[in-house]
Amino acid sequence: MKYSKNAPVVAYIGLGSNLAQPVAQIKSARAVIASIADIRELAFSSLYHSLPMGPQNQPDYVNAVMCVATDLSPMDLLHCLQAIENDHGRERKGERWGARTLDLDILIYGDQEINLPDLIVPHKGLDERSFVLYPLFEIAPQLVVPGKGPISGLLAKCPLSGLRRMN
Ligand code: ATP
Ligand code: MG
Ligand code: MG
Repeated sequence: MKYSKNAPVVAYIGLGSNLAQPVAQIKSARAVIASIADIRELAFSSLYHSLPMGPQNQPDYVNAVMCVATDLSPMDLLHCLQAIENDHGRERKGERWGARTLDLDILIYGDQEINLPDLIVPHKGLDERSFVLYPLFEIAPQLVVPGKGPISGLLAKCPLSGLRRMN
């Protein structure tokens, strides 16, 4: 029925890679995400160069943030992003924040605050991570992060920590 469907939700996805040609990984992931029937790209940030969190014996990262409109539920979106990670050679070796070909995290899903065993939204690291906040601010400077407040305020408290814009 024409009017029965819910309006798409605006969501933000964090992309990161530090293995196997990170720039190519991010660009490929963007294209795949944008090609999904229930997802439409609204904006994509610049690429950023960042220093690793956690284990330091790994290459630097390339990060970006993508804004999409989606008809997928939060869990369906998560599973879709995990499938794309796997298709890009993501290996899970049990080391927290270890090197990876592709990481796709749901940063924000509409105005929802989600606390499920497998899905926490807004992403729990969002307000401490320059490689998330700066690209997010670039494409959504007026954003109010559910439960956390205006992005400008979060950004003001978050040092760059070596983050550089690449393009
Ligand atoms: P971090 O979540 O701190 O950035 P990570 O991205 O390296 O670390 P992953 O190995 O990619 O962690 O994912 C670990 C688990 O995090 C996944 O199995 C997933 O269920 C869970 N998870 C919880 N919230 C989210 C979210 N908002 N986006 C993506 N995964 C999430
Ligand atoms: Mg992550
Ligand atoms: Mg992840």
